[in-house]
Amino acid sequence: MKNIILIAPPGAGKGTQAKMLCSKFNMVHISVGDLLRSEIEKGNDLSESLKQRMQSGKLVEDELILKIMEKRLNESDLDNGFILDGFPRNINQAINLDKITDKIDAVIYLEVSKEELERRIVGRLVCKTCGASYSELIEELMPINNNICDKCNSKLEKRIDDTVEIFNNRYNTYLEETYPILEFYKEKNKLYTINLLDKDEIFNEIVKIIS
Ligand code: AMP
Repeated sequence: MKNIILIAPPGAGKGTQAKMLCSKFNMVHISVGDLLRSEIEKGNDLSESLKQRMQSGKLVEDELILKIMEKRLNESDLDNGFILDGFPRNINQAINLDKITDKIDAVIYLEVSKEELERRIVGRLVCKTCGASYSELIEELMPINNNICDKCNSKLEKRIDDTVEIFNNRYNTYLEETYPILEFYKEKNKLYTINLLDKDEIFNEIVKIIS
């Protein structure tokens, strides 16, 4: 069993790597962004304020995130290991994660330049049905048929927070709040940095670390 944290700036491909790892190792993918987006879709009292917060590029309040994560990490489907995608995202969350579980084996940091991230995010298209990700700007990532998922034929959509302006805000939030937690995990000797761009090369490197 391995429990992994993936840390990366927005658009670096955490979600893609997490999905590839889950299908290879039968681990559970815990994406905080996806959990929050499904809260928004419920259309309840919380939905509108969550949507505004996410659209601003800022982090959602720790209190809510910690409540969601404590509940999720106590569920009974995690025996084969899990991948945390998007959590922790600041020092307070990292400190509180240590109180929820002491079973984190490795923290993998995907390092990607700001220019590359912007190029990927602005044209990103996602399939809400199977989670696959495409681009309308990067040729090798385009779907075969316009706006249709190659894998499950569902309609592709843009994420509400994939605009240049929101990207810049999210990137600044990342630098200010998330980047400092790398030092926190480095001191615990759990940090592995990957500085590659190709998704298969990144994947092979993560597999080596996990193995
Ligand atoms: P993601 O899908 O991981 O890029 O997350 C999308 C948005 O959800 C972020 O820009 C934040 O507004 C919010 N979010 C995701 N994870 C967290 C977290 N751990 N703490 C606070 N806000 C989060």
